[in-house]
Amino acid sequence: MRNKLSEHCVDFIDDAKLEDLVNNTKEDKSIIREVIAKSMEKKALSVKETAVLLSAESPDIVDEIFNAARQLKKDVYGNRIVIFAPLYIGNYCINDCAYCAFRKSLRTTVRKTLSQEELIAQIEALEDNGHKRLILVFGEHPDYTPGFIADTVRKVYTIRKGHGEIRRVNINAAPMDHDGFRKVKAAGIGTYQIFQETYHHSTYAKMHPAHTCKGDYLWRLDGLSRAFESGCDDMGLGALFGLYGWKFEVLGLVTHSHHLQKTYGVGPHTISFPRIRPAHGVELDKKYFVSDYDFKRLVAILRLSVPYTGMILTARETAGIRREVMAFGVSQIDAGTKLELAGYTKKSSVQELSKEQFQIGDVRPMDEILRELLQNGYIPSFCTSCYRSGRTGQIFMEYAIPGFIEKFCTPNALLTLEEYLIDYASPETRQVGEELIVGELQKISCGPQKQKLLERLNNIKNSGQRDLYF
Ligand code: SAM
Ligand code: SF4
Repeated sequence: MRNKLSEHCVDFIDDAKLEDLVNNTKEDKSIIREVIAKSMEKKALSVKETAVLLSAESPDIVDEIFNAARQLKKDVYGNRIVIFAPLYIGNYCINDCAYCAFRKSLRTTVRKTLSQEELIAQIEALEDNGHKRLILVFGEHPDYTPGFIADTVRKVYTIRKGHGEIRRVNINAAPMDHDGFRKVKAAGIGTYQIFQETYHHSTYAKMHPAHTCKGDYLWRLDGLSRAFESGCDDMGLGALFGLYGWKFEVLGLVTHSHHLQKTYGVGPHTISFPRIRPAHGVELDKKYFVSDYDFKRLVAILRLSVPYTGMILTARETAGIRREVMAFGVSQIDAGTKLELAGYTKKSSVQELSKEQFQIGDVRPMDEILRELLQNGYIPSFCTSCYRSGRTGQIFMEYAIPGFIEKFCTPNALLTLEEYLIDYASPETRQVGEELIVGELQKISCGPQKQKLLERLNNIKNSGQRDLYF
């Protein structure tokens, strides 16, 4: 439905065209191999080429896609995984999304907005766990104005405990108008993230009643464009997989990404691909639910299609799936996640679903997740350097620019890991982490850069210095 708000918004999603690509692109292994070869040169794929990869059904060619995604991830991102945590600020909501436990008509959901004291306690608990990067999550409600969101972001940056501080605050909140986006940008947000949920118009209408704010497909679709026009050049897009056919949604995400790139010269900073999870008071038709195998396919295909976009894999997924899918191109995961409002100060990790948006699959504590990453050869990174050095949007080059990973990303990942190991890790995790750092240092060639890195690591370890970055 188009209403007054969205009358000037551009609809760049052509359902018929995307359906046609999904239904009429037939598997042809030689063409699929040509497309894989193009993606291995780190070239973004067109929507049509992405459809070629989606047509792969034979297990042998799907395996070739998996292997290519693994390789591309290594080439573009190295072995770093950025760590963050979500923090729900308020779950009042005026929308009625069929899949969400926070929807307005569900009277049995326990509602809450964090008070200032509760906010401080949550941030301190997150800092005590070692977190440096957060995404603040909001329902859509007249109380959660851009001014309120901006004040919350500012407050979060001021809360310090011991060596703890939050260095990057991202937000996931309902789309605003230009003025609203300018307000939250001025508060220093990192990424503005919003999911289209489904790109399929009639499914969107089914899931989001027309009388609600979110019922306006175009106002939401245009959200990231308004964000960019208002100065937010770090944008996160996503689709909620399980509402409509997964292949269609992949093409929707790629189309959206191309639209931003073409219109503003900047693609999305991240793509998210959450799968629907069980939630309090939610009964959904399972027709479009995505199997684990298809989930792996969609992650691998997205990796190949948008080589320079970060990919976020959340604790919705189980530890086993996260372990497996991570290798296909994920660059960020959350750890030690609690969805309950004020849940980070609770001892128990058992979820109380009437207070939470959905059930998560990976309830392991932060330290355990980090230890496993280290054991598997990943460098957990808390780096926030690009954003704080002005390397964002168009000039954000976390990857692939020759020498960039060696010059900035790996050293910064090691510096932030060292801080974590000293300040927050268990003895077992610290030991595996220190061993990994030694191994990574051996890979870096000698020279002034390595010398500086060694000095900074030493300053963190022996002089108590923190927040050193390149
Ligand atoms: N109210 C904001 C909005 O709708 O944009 C914030 C969104 S919500 C707090 C974050 C995301 O969680 C939603 O965009 C949706 O994709 C996802 N979500 C909602 N219900 C879910 C469920 N049952 N399982 C998995 N993800 C869910
Ligand atoms: Fe509200 Fe967002 Fe949940 Fe929809 S998904 S009911 S807008 S919190």
